[in-house]
Amino acid sequence: MEWTRSESLALAHQQCAYCHGYGLLLGRKSHQTPCNCVLRSVFRACYARFRRSVEKEKHLSRVTLHLMGGRSQRMSWGRKDEEYIADFTLVSKRHLDEKEYQIFKFHFLLGADWKLCCRRLGMDRGNFFHAVYRIQQKLGRAFRETQPYALFPLDEYFNGTSRRESEPAVSAPRPAHERSKRLYPVISRLDRAA
Ligand SMILES: [Zn+2]
Repeated sequence: MEWTRSESLALAHQQCAYCHGYGLLLGRKSHQTPCNCVLRSVFRACYARFRRSVEKEKHLSRVTLHLMGGRSQRMSWGRKDEEYIADFTLVSKRHLDEKEYQIFKFHFLLGADWKLCCRRLGMDRGNFFHAVYRIQQKLGRAFRETQPYALFPLDEYFNGTSRRESEPAVSAPRPAHERSKRLYPVISRLDRAA
């Protein structure tokens, strides 16, 4: 997939020493590739939305009716926040190696600060932040480039077409007790970490 100049420009860090705020760099074979500052911006936006979704899921189970894309223009029940939480964690797990995922889990999912992570994972501060940058860059790219349902841009994810086109036109929402069993030890841990 292509990264557009306008998109990258909007996401770039204005003082970036590599792209100088342009967001795109010339990669191999003269392909334009997003600067790491752009990838980290994508990650931060998706992570902030993840935190908000976790917060919302704790308090209520809002069911929304989405208009589905395609010729059928059917409506479907769904819980976008719940779906987003699942996608965020699954895409992350798929794109990180074991060590990176451990850091991601402690720092981003469980909310442990760098001191606690370093102690627990036996790392020094420099290596820890180096790894965090690498994780943010990898996941920023994955959140934007995962096909066919990228997490970013978030407005497209939340307002775009639903993936459940193959399901019945209107499927009943899952009962709340079923949902809460699946949803996330993470939520309570985030709570404690806050
Ligand atoms: Zn940059």
